[in-house]
Amino acid sequence: MPTRRSQDTDAGDALFETAVEQFDAAADLIGLDDKIRTILRSPKNEIIVSFPVEMDDGTLRMFRGYRVQHSDILGPFKGGLRFSPDVDLGEVKALAMWMTWKTSLANVPFGGAKGGIAFNPREHSDGELQRIVRRFTHALGSNIGPEHDIPAPDIGSNAQAMVWMMDTYLNAGGMGDRQNTRRVVTGKTIETGGSVGRDKATGQGAAFVLAHHFEQINRDLRGTTAAIQGFGNVGEHCARAMARMGVTMTHVADHTGAIMNGHGIDPERLWEHTSRHGGVAGFGDADEIDVEEFFSADVDILVPAAIENQITEERAPNVKASVVVEGANGPTSVRGEEILIDRGIEILPDVLANAGGVTVSYFEWLQNKMSARWRLAQVDDELRRYLWEAADQIEEEKKRLACSRREAAYAVALNRIGTVFAQRGIWP
Ligand code: GLU
Repeated sequence: MPTRRSQDTDAGDALFETAVEQFDAAADLIGLDDKIRTILRSPKNEIIVSFPVEMDDGTLRMFRGYRVQHSDILGPFKGGLRFSPDVDLGEVKALAMWMTWKTSLANVPFGGAKGGIAFNPREHSDGELQRIVRRFTHALGSNIGPEHDIPAPDIGSNAQAMVWMMDTYLNAGGMGDRQNTRRVVTGKTIETGGSVGRDKATGQGAAFVLAHHFEQINRDLRGTTAAIQGFGNVGEHCARAMARMGVTMTHVADHTGAIMNGHGIDPERLWEHTSRHGGVAGFGDADEIDVEEFFSADVDILVPAAIENQITEERAPNVKASVVVEGANGPTSVRGEEILIDRGIEILPDVLANAGGVTVSYFEWLQNKMSARWRLAQVDDELRRYLWEAADQIEEEKKRLACSRREAAYAVALNRIGTVFAQRGIWP
C-alpha cells in the first residue's frame, strides 16, 4: 500500500474515488479504449509546494499549495485555485479531473487542472493575503504559463488574487514578454485585462442552462421558485440571472445558516447583507430555517452552488424540486444521484451547469492574446451559444445511449478527447 501522506484526508480520497467512478461508468458506456482510460484515470502532474510567508506580527508561517494538472490533450491545463482550510490533494485531483471533462464538453481548447492553498482567507489581512498569493505563484514558477497552465478563481479566491498572480508572474519573467503573458491567469479585474461578464459568468451560465432545459420540456420559467445553496460568486450571480428570467428565490443557505421567505428574497438586498456580514444569517427580510429544511424546500428548482457532497443519500429522498442545477462542482453524491433519478428529478450536471466560468475564461484569454476588448452583449451571446450547443449535444447523446444526463455529458466530453488521442497517438 502506498504510504499515506499527512496532506491526504479520507474526504479528499473519497471525492477522487467518486470522480473516477463517474469516469469509469461513462468510459464503459461509450466503450472508451482501454489505453486512453488508463491514462485518464490519473492526473498527469501533481505539484505540492510549501512556502513561508511573513505575517503582520512578524512571525513566519508555512503554507501548503497544490496544483494538479490532469490532462492537456486538448490544450493548456486550465482550472481554478481554491483557498480553503479543507483543500487537500484528493479534492484537488477530483476537481482537476472534472475540469478536463468540463473544458472538453464546452468545446474550449483547454485541458483540465485545479489547485489551491490550504488556509482560510478570512483570517488574513489584505497584506498577508497578497504575500501568500505572491509566494505561491513564485513557488509554482514555470509550472504555470500562458500556453501551459492557466489558473483562475474558485472558492475563496477572487479577481484581486488573480491580479497579484499575474503581476508576480510578469515581474519574474523576461521584459520582452511582459505584455503578452498576462493571459497566464483569467478572472482578472477588467482594468488589468479581465473580461466583462467573467465575474458573473458561472452563475449566468447556470441560468442559461436552466433556461435551455425549460425550453426543451416546454415549461415557462416565469413564476417558478428556487432554493440556492451558497451565496458566493456562483450563487449570487445565478440568483440575479434567474431573477431576470422571472424566477423567485425563496430559500438560501450558506456556511452561516439558511433563510426563507415565501414571497421571495431580493438578490441585491441579500448581496448587500452578505458583503457586510459575511453570510446570509441575520438577513432581516426572511425567517431562519434549519439546513435540512432547506434541502426539503417546496420549490421548483434547487441550485447547489457551494461545495461538494451536499445532496447525499440522506437528503436526496427529501428533495421536492423537480430540477437540480449543479452550480457547484460535485454537489451530488453517486448514491444521491441514483435516488434523485429514481424519483424523476432532473439533474443538470456540474460539467455543463457551471461551465460558464471557464468558457468566459477562454474568452478572456482570447481577448488578451489579441489585445481585444469584447462588449458584454458579445460575451453573453457567445456564452449562451457555447453552453446551448453543449446542452443540445448532451440531450442527443442521452437519447442515443439511454443514459443519465451526467453520463451523456461525459460521453460527449470523452468522445472528443478519445478522437484526439486516436489521431495524435500515444507517444512514444
Ligand atoms: N473555478 C471555475 C471552475 O470550477 C473556473 C475555472 C476557470 O475559469 O479556469 O470551473
